[in-house]
Order: sequence, then C-alpha cells, then structure tokens
Amino acid sequence: MPGAPIQESELWELSRQLISFNTVSSLSNVAAAEYLANFLENIGFSVQLVKETVQNVEKANVLAWIGPQVPGGLIISGHIDIVPFEGQPGWKTDPLVMSTDGERIFGRGVSDMKVFLAQAILAAKRTSLQSLKRPLMFIFTCDEEVAGQGAGRLIHVIPELFHDYPLPRVALIGEPTNFDIFPAHKGYASFDIVVHGKGGHSSAPHKGLNAIEKMSDVIELLKEANQQLLQQASAENRRLFPEVPGSVFNCGLITGGLAPNMIAEECRLTTSVRIAPGDQAEQLLAPLQERWHKEIVTSMKRVAPESDITLQDLTITPPLSSPSDDEFCHFLCQLTGKQADRGAPYATDGGQFQQIGIDSYIWGPGLLEEAHQPNESLPVSHFITGMAQVERIIHGWCIERDAS
Ligand SMILES: [Zn+2]
Repeated sequence: MPGAPIQESELWELSRQLISFNTVSSLSNVAAAEYLANFLENIGFSVQLVKETVQNVEKANVLAWIGPQVPGGLIISGHIDIVPFEGQPGWKTDPLVMSTDGERIFGRGVSDMKVFLAQAILAAKRTSLQSLKRPLMFIFTCDEEVAGQGAGRLIHVIPELFHDYPLPRVALIGEPTNFDIFPAHKGYASFDIVVHGKGGHSSAPHKGLNAIEKMSDVIELLKEANQQLLQQASAENRRLFPEVPGSVFNCGLITGGLAPNMIAEECRLTTSVRIAPGDQAEQLLAPLQERWHKEIVTSMKRVAPESDITLQDLTITPPLSSPSDDEFCHFLCQLTGKQADRGAPYATDGGQFQQIGIDSYIWGPGLLEEAHQPNESLPVSHFITGMAQVERIIHGWCIERDAS
C-alpha cells in the first residue's frame, strides 16, 4: 500500500484516544465527551456539553454547531458509550488499546462506534467550514447502549440548545452498517410481568394460588399476540423487515417460586418487545393487559382477593421510520451508490430523535456482526474510506447545496 502507515495518521491518533477512554455505559463518559468537545471547539464549532448525573455517575452529551443560521442543516450523530468487555471471554488484545494486524483494526468500539466519531470530527476539520451554506451539527450521546436512554433524556433540550438555529430535519447516525443505508428500525421496550399469587404447602394446592401456573397462561397470551402482530404487519414493514415484519414479544428471563414443595407465591417474567414502525409500546401492551385482567386475574381474585398481575419497570426505545423518498435520503443513496430499502436489525438514537421531528438515516463503517463481540474489529478499508465518505456527505449537503 502506498503512503505512510495508518498508525501515523491523525485519524489513527484520534481513534486511538477515543478507544482508550473506558466509556462502558455504567461508567462516566465525561473525559471522552470533553475530548470530542475540545476538538470541535478548536476547529471553530460552538459547543455545549450537556452533563447529567445518572445513578450517581456523571455523564455528558456533546452538542456542536457551525455555519449559517438557516434551515436544511445536517446533524451527524453517534454514541460515546460502549458495551462491556470485562469478563467477556475471547479477547486477544487489550480492548482499550487500538491495534491492527494490517487488515483489521481491533478494540472495543472500533465498529460500534468510536472510529466513526473520529472520522466525523476529522472530516469536519478537513472541510472548509467558512464555506458552509447550511449548518453542520454534531450530537454525541451517552447511554445509547442502555436502550437509548441518553438521547431519550437529551431530546427534551435539543431544540433549546441549538437556540438560534432552525432544528435540522435530518441526521446521519454512523452505526456499523457496512456502509448500507437504513432509514428505519424497530423500537424496543423491556418490562417485567409479575404474577402475585398465594403461597402455601404443596399438599394443599386448593388453599393457594400458584403464580408460576398463572404465568404460563400469560405466556400463552404473549404467543397469541405474536401471531396476531405478524398477520397484521403493514406492507411497508414487510418491505423493511421481510424476516419478521411485525412487532414481536420475547420471554427473556423468568424467576419464581422458592422450593418444589411450596406453592409458588410470585413469578416474574422479564419480557421485551421489538416495536415495528407504526406501533407504540403502550398500544401493544394495553390489549395484553386488558386480556390478562379479564381472562386470568378475575378468576384469580375469586381464590385470593390480594392476587394480581402487574407490569413493572417499563423502558421504551421508540422505533424509527424515516421517509425513503426524502431529499436527504436520495442524496445519500446517490452519493454512496446504495439503496435505503431495508430496516436495521437494531435500535439506535434515531427513534428518540424522531420524537422531535428529526428523521435519521443509519449509515456507517463497520460490521454489525463485529459489534458487541470479543475482538471487536473494523476492516482497515472502512477505516480509510469512511472519513472520505463523511467528508463528501458534509461537502455535498452543506456546501454544494444552497440553503433550502
Ligand atoms: Zn452502536
């Protein structure tokens, strides 16, 4: 390969620094956020660090903007946090020390998604920022790997923070897509279903109410709901998610009872639902709750008035469904030579951004199958070409196009 080795490039140095911050979601990401903020400030961006304390840990989101105060701007976004690596077997290198074997680059976050963050800010540095005809903005979030909760909190202040700027309608989120474009993804909600029964001696089942047995009735309802949701799937969702076009519940974890000779008093089912675009968590849960009250709880209460089935700890990440016929989407498809006809198989901050009117398109270097894995890696080719592509996107959208 001609030219200097990649280890001597500024992109390597920036990526290496970002990888070296341990930003596992349970820890503070403030040092990494400040590093990004300083870099952007030094090249002329206005920067706002939005700090918050989450379960006694200090977190930060980075918002940065530059260019004329006109509509039609572009947001480039990514998350600063990473998934855990400690205790994950199979690592051959130090996850916090970026390394390469010449073909791939290794380290936690190289694909998901710190190298993209480095590519994005360096692409901005290489852009003639005084020539911008439309604003360029960055949003780097915390707690994306915790069901997008960082962006979920941030969206309430984003319009106010960009104060003098019309809020851009579109965002590019650089999750690892192998440079494919995803205009949509399902949302995700997790929650516990708890059956509160009545305990007792296993020799006298008529004197108690077995929570595990009642939970099996609830599970039947979930299975029925899945079948129905699949049948009702819209044509659009069949196109975007051909394999599983509907919302779908998953029974993830179950605990209940104390001993084989006791009637189980309580049973807890930790459940999730992948929410197809067009559906909402509350809409999916309401008919389910209605059914279990009518078909299960009513008869339970006749045996034990204090018994019940409750839903607890609901966390929601909304789905994303950005228009495929949007001007930015056309631009992105043309520039990358890709189509935007499938949904991503994972959720991103884009679902949260859409709550305030920002349509996101998921596109970035790295491979999904590398994300969250031991020896997370990124092809060297993605490392090199990714930045040039981000540069072309910024140039094409914010400089070559007049303000809309
Ligand atoms: Zn990610």
